[in-house]
Amino acid sequence: MKNIYSIGIGLIGGSLAKDIKELKPEVIIHGISRKESTLNDALALNLIDKKATLDDLKNADLVIISIPVDATVKLLPTILDLIPETGLVVDAGSTKVDICKVVENHPKRRNFLAMHPIAGTEHSGPAAAISGLFQGKTNIVCEVEKTTFKLQEKALKLFSDIGMRIRYMNPEAHDKHIAYVSHLSHISSFMLGKTVIDKERNERDIFDMAGSGFASTVRLAKSSPAMWTPIFKQNKSNVIETLDEYIENLTHFKELMEQDNFDAIYKEMESTNYIKDILNGIH
Ligand code: NAP
Repeated sequence: MKNIYSIGIGLIGGSLAKDIKELKPEVIIHGISRKESTLNDALALNLIDKKATLDDLKNADLVIISIPVDATVKLLPTILDLIPETGLVVDAGSTKVDICKVVENHPKRRNFLAMHPIAGTEHSGPAAAISGLFQGKTNIVCEVEKTTFKLQEKALKLFSDIGMRIRYMNPEAHDKHIAYVSHLSHISSFMLGKTVIDKERNERDIFDMAGSGFASTVRLAKSSPAMWTPIFKQNKSNVIETLDEYIENLTHFKELMEQDNFDAIYKEMESTNYIKDILNGIH
């Protein structure tokens, strides 16, 4: 694997480029992006070796797509058209149903592997790229059987070499489960941030009272709307289902407060403390 093309060199594309370069110094990472300034930043940060365009994909051994999921759905068929017969395309998108669907009948479907590396931060763009982001994290791979065996092996080896565990899932199960553990957490953080900003807009001093609990709970509200809006759009029905359940829990909590039922509130929190056991070993 000599020529790797990274389409999108933000947090995910840039961090993958860093880890791959560290692991395989002989590889040439070619960067493709909409904006010239993004490519210049990526070059300056040593994330890529060269600038490239879609026409250069005919030379690609591997193409890594790390752009917003709506842009991936639009561009993926063209990327598959442009790569050589031996080329492999992987995407890092946070939703999988629409992405898998758009190429289900593509003549080069077997050159594509759908994945979602479960790793990230709230930052975006080339400057957000960090080494070791994927170490010990899970890479969810969808519809592995639809990818040529040799290309599957290549991809899975690369991602396990950068420290990832591989987990297989169908796209529907991926989108349903990820709505709970990732998409709902982001909405909850955005709306918590909004609630506090709306209330305290004219009282900057109040933020001096904000401790690490507030900071860690609203951390995800710093995330990029350009990346998240297409995720919510593609996973709309699953996200709405999680929101219904979340709102029901919030309403129930409020009702217990109104009823002065603090024994029940204690029990709600005590049973949710079980999250410690679940998360033990993840963070
Ligand atoms: P990011 O840091 O914002 O980088 C996105 C990149 O995509 C930028 O290089 C940008 O380049 C390009 N881009 C933006 N809009 C585009 C469009 N409409 N068409 C083509 N290119 C566009 O985002 P990221 O966090 O790396 O996320 C990339 C992908 O990884 C997304 O599909 C996301 O769902 C997935 N993902 C994210 C996380 C996370 O925690 N952030 C985790 C796992 C997977 P220009 O500036 O040149 O437009």
